[in-house]
Amino acid sequence: MNSRIPEATVDEILRRCDLVEVMGRYVQLRRTGRKFVALCPFHQEKTPSLHVDPEKGLWHCFGCKVGGTVLTFVQMMEGLNFREVALKMAAEVGIHVEISREAAEEDSQRERAFNLLDRVAGYYHELLLRSPLGQPGREYLAERRVSRETAERFRLGWAPEGGRALARKLEQAGFSRQESLEAGVLVERSSGLRDLLRNRLVFPICDTQGRVLAFGGRALGDAQPKYLNSPESAFYSKRMHLYGIHLARGPISRGDQAVLVEGYFDVVSLHQAGIPRAVASLGTALTPEQANLLHRYTRTAVLAYDSDPAGQQATLKGAEILEEAGLRVLVATMPEGEDPDSLARKDSGALTEQIASAVGVVEFQMDCLQRSIDLSTPEGKEDFVREVLPSIGRIRDSARQDAYVRRLAYRTGISEQKLHWRLRRGGRKPEPARQGPRVLDVEERLLHLCATNPEWVAVVREIVSVEMVSRREMRPLFAALLGLGKRTEPVTLAEFLPHLQEEGMVSRLTEILAQEPLQSTLEDVRKLAVSIRDRALRERLEVLREEVLPALDAGRLDLEDPLCQEYFQLRRHFHGRVMQ
Ligand SMILES: [Zn+2]
Repeated sequence: MNSRIPEATVDEILRRCDLVEVMGRYVQLRRTGRKFVALCPFHQEKTPSLHVDPEKGLWHCFGCKVGGTVLTFVQMMEGLNFREVALKMAAEVGIHVEISREAAEEDSQRERAFNLLDRVAGYYHELLLRSPLGQPGREYLAERRVSRETAERFRLGWAPEGGRALARKLEQAGFSRQESLEAGVLVERSSGLRDLLRNRLVFPICDTQGRVLAFGGRALGDAQPKYLNSPESAFYSKRMHLYGIHLARGPISRGDQAVLVEGYFDVVSLHQAGIPRAVASLGTALTPEQANLLHRYTRTAVLAYDSDPAGQQATLKGAEILEEAGLRVLVATMPEGEDPDSLARKDSGALTEQIASAVGVVEFQMDCLQRSIDLSTPEGKEDFVREVLPSIGRIRDSARQDAYVRRLAYRTGISEQKLHWRLRRGGRKPEPARQGPRVLDVEERLLHLCATNPEWVAVVREIVSVEMVSRREMRPLFAALLGLGKRTEPVTLAEFLPHLQEEGMVSRLTEILAQEPLQSTLEDVRKLAVSIRDRALRERLEVLREEVLPALDAGRLDLEDPLCQEYFQLRRHFHGRVMQ
């Protein structure tokens, strides 16, 4: 697997990590027999379809059809790459990892870039807290009632005027021009390198681990642009990250709720006001990637955007994206003329109250519309229904959908029945029934049974060879299985991994291995093996028939030819005697 960490080391890590203990840090596991189940953190559900099998060292969700090892799970939860996870877990269980030279080089480049960004954050932060140069920044924060403690928690900074201070600092620290440019903190001008941020309050933007990736800079007064952000880089894509996530992810997952706000200052103010679950998208509308990131930590998101028309539009758009990602969305409305930041400063109790009493999206939309649409006319009612119905259609829970239809009927005076009819005609249906494990085909069944009871492999080996397996991608798995020595303990996912040719096979394999143990005897296994063999032989017979018979007729082949011999042997196998 593309990790450049030696396979043997990955094996060792997987063997020493306690799958149940590690997964238990993220989800609530319930024991069922020799396995565990949990609500899947990667999709929305009410009954658990995430299965964990410690004997085979794997997990699989039958709902969203993903699965893998403990490393895959931590990788998806933490948003790290495979190598980062492997190194993290290796350190936990005390394994030393040898790293190849290219990997080490790439690592050290990455390491240096993170180091550079961290120093930049430290430098700006120092200036804001202690330097005479940072005076304007300190005054501004005081004006906005941001405490020193909060400034420290967010590592806020001050970028001084002038425009060469940082460039000089980085040069002195031994970073090359190239490195500084790639990190996006300096820009190239005809006069040489200049600092990107000048005379601005600085917000470091971090990944979930708290590593600095980029910076947002806010101008004081009326300077334009009001916000200036680092450009995208090899480490930073604004679609992928959320401001404040490194501080908020713990509180979000503990409280099972995230609060989404629009700006950096909103996040800072909410945390200071005792709502540490707040995050913001980065100078763009909310993206699906950001919604997925949130969904790793929670199932509920409260949108607390500005109360102006633009904020309302952003709320509806954001709600749609969050719902698509499987989150339940609530909307907290701000009083006329306030945003979360201003309300937090004025009356943090009122803010907490607004968030606690957040309403469903459809409720919010109906409230907004009612202010602009005249519901006393038939046209007004029709407009109202046309706007609201699609939102009701997006609700996946049918009971909640019914409740909203009832409210829409109440507000417009149009009958529930009629609304239901229009809803059905409109398309989207409520959540389909939970998907259970799919029925395995013959080859998959045999793979499952032999991996669970390896003592049967010897019998299968007598009947089936790898080439008889019909689907090419399954063959390496059978090769691994048939190559097993004498043993009784189940085959683990880790043992199969080196034989997988593509990443996408992992979830296919966990789906097969994680099935409930199939009730079977050795005789059933023998029958499965025979049916695989016979299907393969029949196909071969068909191929031979088309080749051999015409060639015999035309005298191009005689009966002693190996192809002829094979053909007649196969015919005997299926028909007992030769007929010509
Ligand atoms: Zn799932």
